[in-house]
Amino acid sequence: MEHILARLAGQYEIVPEGEERDFVDYRLIDTCGFIGDAKEESIQFILESVERKRRGHVGAVYVFGCLSQRYASEMPGLIPEVDAWFGATDFTPLLRAFGVRGDGRPARLLTTPSHYAYLKISEGCDRRCSYCAIPHIRGRHVSVPMETLVREAGELAASGVKELIVVAQDTTYYGLDLYRRRALAGLLQRLSEIDGIEWIRVHYSYPDDFPEDVLDLMADNPKVCRYIDIPLQHISDTVLSMMRRNVDGAWTRSLVKHMRERVPGVVLRTTLIVGHPGEGELEYGELLDFVREARFERLGAFMYSEEEGTYGAEHFTDDVPQDVKQSRYDGLMSLQSGISSDFNRSRVGTVCRVIVDDFVDGILVCRSEFESPEVDGEILVKYNPALFKGLEPFSLIGDFLDVRIVAADEYDLIAEPVL
Ligand code: SF4
Repeated sequence: MEHILARLAGQYEIVPEGEERDFVDYRLIDTCGFIGDAKEESIQFILESVERKRRGHVGAVYVFGCLSQRYASEMPGLIPEVDAWFGATDFTPLLRAFGVRGDGRPARLLTTPSHYAYLKISEGCDRRCSYCAIPHIRGRHVSVPMETLVREAGELAASGVKELIVVAQDTTYYGLDLYRRRALAGLLQRLSEIDGIEWIRVHYSYPDDFPEDVLDLMADNPKVCRYIDIPLQHISDTVLSMMRRNVDGAWTRSLVKHMRERVPGVVLRTTLIVGHPGEGELEYGELLDFVREARFERLGAFMYSEEEGTYGAEHFTDDVPQDVKQSRYDGLMSLQSGISSDFNRSRVGTVCRVIVDDFVDGILVCRSEFESPEVDGEILVKYNPALFKGLEPFSLIGDFLDVRIVAADEYDLIAEPVL
C-alpha cells in the first residue's frame, strides 16, 4: 500500500482515511479477505463508500487487495457501483488506471508515525494449513532479496525511522526460495547494522523448524526486540493434525519452554483458533490447560470460520455450533485476561526504555520492546514540563525515554520518567 501511495503522491494529493473532506476524486480501498469477519468489514466499507459516491462526496471508488483478488469474478456483479477492482499482488493495472508508471520498487509513503515502519520481507506462503485461504490468495512464498530490504531499511532510517517491524505470512521461511536456507537471522543482523535503527521486531513466525539462530540474535543483539509473535493455533494433537500444522502438542510445548530458556525475559505473543472441526470439550480443555501453563504475555484468538477453497472446507464439516465457538472464545479470553494482568503487574517497579508514539490529552503514549504498535497495550507517561526541561511534548514523539512502571491494568501501564 505504501509503495502505491508513494507513486500516486507525485501526481495526486493523498488524504488519509478519516480526514474530513467534502469531496474526494477517488476513494482507494485496500481489502482483507482471509476470514469471515475481515471480509464483512471490507464489504461494509465498500458499501459505505459507494453510498458516499451516490451522494456526490466521492468521484470514483477503486478496490484492491485480498478480497478483491479472491472474489474477482463475483465482486463486480455484487457491487457494480465500484468503478474498478484490482488484485492483491500485481499493482501495475491499478497504477496504470491512475496514469502512473508501475515498474521497480519505489520509495514508500509511510502511513505509520515517522519513527517506525513495517518491512515486508516476503509475500505468499508455501504451507498448507487446512483452514487458511492465504496461499490461494497470495500465492507461493517469494522472498524479497536481502540487498533490496537492506537498501529500503537504510532509506527508512535516513528519513527518521528508528524501529522496523519485520512482517511476512511466515517470517521464518525467509530466504528458502532465494538462498536455499533460512536467512531471517542474517537479515536481522544486517538490519541491526544500519545507523539509526534502534529496534527490530519480528511478527508471524511458524513453529515448525523455528530457526535457532534467531533466538541467539534475540538473546545477544540488543537491537533485536525480545518479542516473538508465534501463532500456534492449538495444542491438541488431533486438532493440530487436522489443521495440517506439521507440529504436535509435545513439540509446541518444548519450543515454548526452549524460547523462554534461550531468551530470558522474552515476551511471547500467540494466536489460537477455537471451534475448529475435531475440537471437542476434551481438546478445548487441553487448550485451556496449555494457556494456563505457557502463560503467554499476549494472546489473540479467532473462532474457526470455514473458507471456500481451503482443505478444511473440502474435507471437514464445520460442526462446532456458533454459540459453542463463542463460549469457548469467551472462556479463553477471560483466562488470558488474568494472565495478561499478572504479567503487567509483575512489571510494576521495573525500569525500561520506551519510544514515544504520540501525545494525547497531556499524556505521552509510549511502548517498550515488549509492545508492538496497534496490537499490544501502551505505556502512559504524564507529561510534566518541569521534568522534561521545557521540551515541547510533540517534539518528544519518536524519542526514547527511560521510565519506571508505577501502575498496571490488563492492557496498559502507567510510568514516570527516570531522569
Ligand atoms: S503459515 Fe500462516 S499464511 Fe501460511 S497457510 Fe499457515 S496460517 Fe496460512
